[in-house]
Amino acid sequence: MRFEELKAELRDDFPWYFSVMDGEMPAKYLIAKRVEAERGGPELLDKLTDSFLKLWRDVREGREDIRRLEVPKYSLLDYLADLVDSWVERCTFCRWGCRVNRKVRAGACQLNVESRVASYFHHRGEELVFRGTEGSGTVFFTSCNMRCVFCQNGDISKDKDNGVPLSPRRLAGAIRVLASEGVHNVNLVGGDPTVHLHTIIKAIRELAYGNEVVDEVTLLPKADYPYFHSRKRRVYGNEISVPMLWNSNFFMSEEAMKVLRLVIDVWLPDFKFGNDRCALRLSRTPWYVETVTANLSRIYSWGEEAVIRHLVMPNHVEDDTMPVLEWIARNVPNYWVNLMDQYRPEYAADPFSPLFDPKYSDIARYPTREEIETAYSYARKLGIKFELTTFY
Ligand code: SF4
Repeated sequence: MRFEELKAELRDDFPWYFSVMDGEMPAKYLIAKRVEAERGGPELLDKLTDSFLKLWRDVREGREDIRRLEVPKYSLLDYLADLVDSWVERCTFCRWGCRVNRKVRAGACQLNVESRVASYFHHRGEELVFRGTEGSGTVFFTSCNMRCVFCQNGDISKDKDNGVPLSPRRLAGAIRVLASEGVHNVNLVGGDPTVHLHTIIKAIRELAYGNEVVDEVTLLPKADYPYFHSRKRRVYGNEISVPMLWNSNFFMSEEAMKVLRLVIDVWLPDFKFGNDRCALRLSRTPWYVETVTANLSRIYSWGEEAVIRHLVMPNHVEDDTMPVLEWIARNVPNYWVNLMDQYRPEYAADPFSPLFDPKYSDIARYPTREEIETAYSYARKLGIKFELTTFY
């Protein structure tokens, strides 16, 4: 299927994402740039969210054009950047809730305040809805807040020193490079992007105000060829405008979700496990199901656009795939799902690795065709929308 055909099929499910991608609407961060704010702490967030939502609705419904609006001296984007900067001193970005001052020491994610980027490039392997024709502008951040024994990005997620440090300004520069090369979205991933929330929000602010720096340090982790500036350069008016895509394990705190809601245009959450026993054993992550389902319910109730990813694992179709699909069918039935069949045993689950631990023998093989087909049949039986985001 060609991208334009897929877009036509999915237009009703991703109206905001496509309209930002096509330059018909501004990315959310450009709207947040026009919302006047005052300095203060988290107690102001709900009130400012109301102001943002009102302007966003007016923009969507054609009653307002942000190109006609003044940029206030202190905007919602300034407020969010200040908020995450103070918040990182008592970090509760994710469900671990470490409350450590990351300007002094690291939390469970092993990260202090510095953010590292392993690579960024036009990703041609994401779902067609996200890779399109020009690729998804993917930024791979280092480290993670989960500890999956089978991680397929282990070199990035398990090595906190992978990649190079990028300041918010340089990260904004990397994003500008990608947007200028015509990527369909900026795909923030890792490891997991949540642990870099402070850097990402500040980078989006720098991008919105045109303060970014593109230099040899920024270009260092770019892992593909330089592209000529595409005829599809992502702009709205004379500002860079590219959909922000949050590609995450969804193990974030409620506060992090509330901040992200104001700048993220489309979501790509993982939903790995259907029970906490497996989450604890295979990802060493407590409170998994309650946290991820709460966050999925949140974006659904907010009317956000998303594709949920579920990786089908060997010997875990009944324990995990089925309950995950049942929850989706019951609680977020309008979301598309990518039922991924590309699991491969890695790290402690790889029988050919020195790191192999026999207690993970249940996942030490590829899933069988029968397991994958069982997952597809069950999704069909439940009426889940998955073909266009799984097979393309
Ligand atoms: S991001 Fe999560 S794991 Fe890391 S310090 Fe903050 S709360 Fe802890």
